[in-house]
Amino acid sequence: MAEVTLKDVVKVYPNGFKAVHGANLEVKDKEFVVLLGPSGCGKTTTLRMIAGLEEITEGTITIGGKVVNDVEPKDRDIAMVFQNYALYPHMTVYENMAFGLKLRKIPKPEIDKRVKEAAKILGIENLLDRKPKQLSGGQRQRVAVGRAIVRDPKVFLFDEPLSNLDAKLRTQMRAELKRLHKNLQATIIYVTHDQVEAMTMADKIVIMKDGVIHQIGDPYSVYFEPVNKFVAGFIGTPSMNFISAKVSQEDGKLWIHKEGMKLLIPEKYYEKLKPYVGKDVIFGIRPENIYDKMFAVSPRDEFVAKGKVDVVEPLGSETLIHATISGDDIIAKVDPKTRAQAGDTIDLVFDMSMVHVFDIETEKNVL
Ligand code: ATP
Repeated sequence: MAEVTLKDVVKVYPNGFKAVHGANLEVKDKEFVVLLGPSGCGKTTTLRMIAGLEEITEGTITIGGKVVNDVEPKDRDIAMVFQNYALYPHMTVYENMAFGLKLRKIPKPEIDKRVKEAAKILGIENLLDRKPKQLSGGQRQRVAVGRAIVRDPKVFLFDEPLSNLDAKLRTQMRAELKRLHKNLQATIIYVTHDQVEAMTMADKIVIMKDGVIHQIGDPYSVYFEPVNKFVAGFIGTPSMNFISAKVSQEDGKLWIHKEGMKLLIPEKYYEKLKPYVGKDVIFGIRPENIYDKMFAVSPRDEFVAKGKVDVVEPLGSETLIHATISGDDIIAKVDPKTRAQAGDTIDLVFDMSMVHVFDIETEKNVL
């Protein structure tokens, strides 16, 4: 079994900077877990502590049930794939993949077997005699993964392995890594700042900011049930729209309103929103939950706000409308047949069953 746990893990660098503030995390055996967050949030530090490349200031890390705080990296039964691949330029692909095993004094026939097996899994059998500089970025990336596979580790750690590849190759490698995870039945902890990578590959996403874990959940829950404004805005492209508004009560109903906008809140949210009546809140809605009224199914006036269109971006399968609703900029992802043009004022229909409301002080999601 190769589960990894972090209990109250803190990292303070020698200069006094606290990069990780008491991280708690459980990675199950064979799980694909992605540490996701903006630059500087502490994800690489966390990964390096798991690898043993960085000392832990406080807390406990276990791998396979064993506390590894004081275990050397080479004895942790993990393999790490770095962003820059760190291949030896003077060695062939074969030698690069065999190197770690040679150091461990594994018998030659066994090394040969493992390298060829890994090469087959990754589709690089025909590249074994080449040097790294004779490879494309994607091929180098595969070699770096191959070097990890031959070690047959308990846990794979990936540090932004796709960031040096172009967009098309990244998409392709994403699918390959996912397939690989399935074939290897391995535990993977993967660091990225790319939320699409996280959403497409992870069983579980760990969202970090400023050294703090904000939410841990599967892609579905972090997308549809973000715990706070940061997570809501970080996951999803284009980002969730945030509109400053007030919760009000009128005719026995609750509304989200601001000057020029008044939207009916569905009853299912009344209980949670009652304490906010009369208060300022941040109202959140994703671009795909706002429709051009012309293409909305049975639009009701209570769900419509007027938007002044700034820019229209046709993307083929959908069109992005950048608009302002009483001073707040929003983006709506609408039907590509929209006739909206810059300068128009159009009716935008909000799917009020998909909204979020954030407390203005704590930024917590109150729904
Ligand atoms: P990126 O996506 O840019 O790699 P990250 O989320 O992986 O970011 P870390 O590399 O873990 O972030 O760094 C977290 C914080 O710790 C940053 O503010 C960084 O400047 C700081 N930091 C990293 N290494 C050290 C160090 N050796 N000494 C002091 N501070 C450090």
